[in-house]
Amino acid sequence: MMAADLHHQSVAGLAAALRARQVSAVELARHFLGRIQQHADLGAFLAVDEAVTLAQAQAADARLAAGDAPLLAGVPLAHKDIFVTRDWPTTAGSRMLAGYRSPFDATVVQRLAEAGMVGLGKLNCDEFAMGSANENSAFGAVKNPWNPAHVPGGSSGGSAAAVAAGLTPAATGTDTGGSIRQPASFCGLTGIKPTYGRASRYGMIAFASSLDQAGPMARTAEDCALLLSALCGPDLDRDSTSLDVPAEDFTRLLNDSLAGLRIGVPREFFGEGLAPDVRAAVDAALAELEKRGARRVEISLPRTELAIPVYYIIAPAEASSNLERFDGVKFGHRARDYADLEDMYKKTRAEGFGAEVKRRIMTGTYVLSHGYYDAYYLQAQKLRRMIADDFQAAFKQCDVIAGPVAPTVAWALGAERDPLADYLADVYTLPASLAGLPGMSVPAGFGEGGLPVGLQLIGNYLQEGRLLNVAHQLQQSTDWHQRFPQGF
Ligand code: GLN
Repeated sequence: MMAADLHHQSVAGLAAALRARQVSAVELARHFLGRIQQHADLGAFLAVDEAVTLAQAQAADARLAAGDAPLLAGVPLAHKDIFVTRDWPTTAGSRMLAGYRSPFDATVVQRLAEAGMVGLGKLNCDEFAMGSANENSAFGAVKNPWNPAHVPGGSSGGSAAAVAAGLTPAATGTDTGGSIRQPASFCGLTGIKPTYGRASRYGMIAFASSLDQAGPMARTAEDCALLLSALCGPDLDRDSTSLDVPAEDFTRLLNDSLAGLRIGVPREFFGEGLAPDVRAAVDAALAELEKRGARRVEISLPRTELAIPVYYIIAPAEASSNLERFDGVKFGHRARDYADLEDMYKKTRAEGFGAEVKRRIMTGTYVLSHGYYDAYYLQAQKLRRMIADDFQAAFKQCDVIAGPVAPTVAWALGAERDPLADYLADVYTLPASLAGLPGMSVPAGFGEGGLPVGLQLIGNYLQEGRLLNVAHQLQQSTDWHQRFPQGF
């Protein structure tokens, strides 16, 4: 295998090459470590440790040589810095956790390591996964490899930029309200958020616990299926919301025909606010699926717009509670000078948290406070249920739902955007998050400025295999997922 194109290979391709001994895990690790260094200006990585990576690669090579290696043995990957890891520091993109080292690995990290994958390090993200552009990281913004003057999306922006630039063949991400799907869309990748409860949240630094889910980001649907199969599965003793559903082989439906499949297209996803270039790309992708035998049915998700206020009440409410633990006593940063305990808390949190995190803590505390709880939090919970019910009504008419991931392509880095503008841009990803449904982003071509556009697919509970099937079929007749940004 040519060293020059190792970083253009898929996870499946690399796994096969490793097995055929055309390349070793150590060679691969060195190749990607070199690229990470070469493209450090993207800001995608927060922690790399050559010795750790090479030791993991040597272990994988030993297993490959012994012939008892699992399927993904030796394939490199990198983790969003929201997963705690023993081998690298974990920051969640926050000053609050600068230099923190966990005494254990997150379940997702552990499962992928058990699958033989070699860790390349930790990836930049929005602070505590709050954001849509990766500009909220305390350690600097991440650049979009398709155009470094643009954002990669967020909050898993480091994951998306790293895969798009060929610094790693795959990465983990987390999605609370769209943070796997939207950066995948902005960087021309495939990414999937499984049904809530399928991936363990143990060791994933909590943002909004009733919404947070882990998932893979890679170039192809097949790669996502391989990774998802490895990382999902019950973790009942360690995550109280883990689903007691056996892990499954998500590759098993990839080659199913789409003949007769009903694709529901929600009217509300194509209204005012959807940029014409995104609409055109999404339409072209849907037409491609129709050519493969799928049938398009118009459906309605009437409470789509309400997902924004509902999410931006529930997520901050949960965040305000989850982030209480960062008090200068238990983890990470502590203010240097303080008068007493109260002052220590205040100064630590004032110094440790960034502006967006503070905004969410304040909003969350407000909506949970006596007198406002009923008016905001309780109302939001009721609407959340209605949004989930709307999906169940829609799934009586269709097998999967499709539409845009985001209203526009990636916007310019450093653009003075109102935080509200970012919240509004989450309109298409939030509904599935609130309902706990699986959702994914699949490359669907390019829009303004040659920037990637993603097609969103949403399935009913536990229908990840069907989503991956639709995505894989789309990738049989299109090559958008195989394009590389210039210079990478
Ligand atoms: N953009 C959304 C937010 O800022 C979603 C983030 C996420 O999914 N982690 O909360």
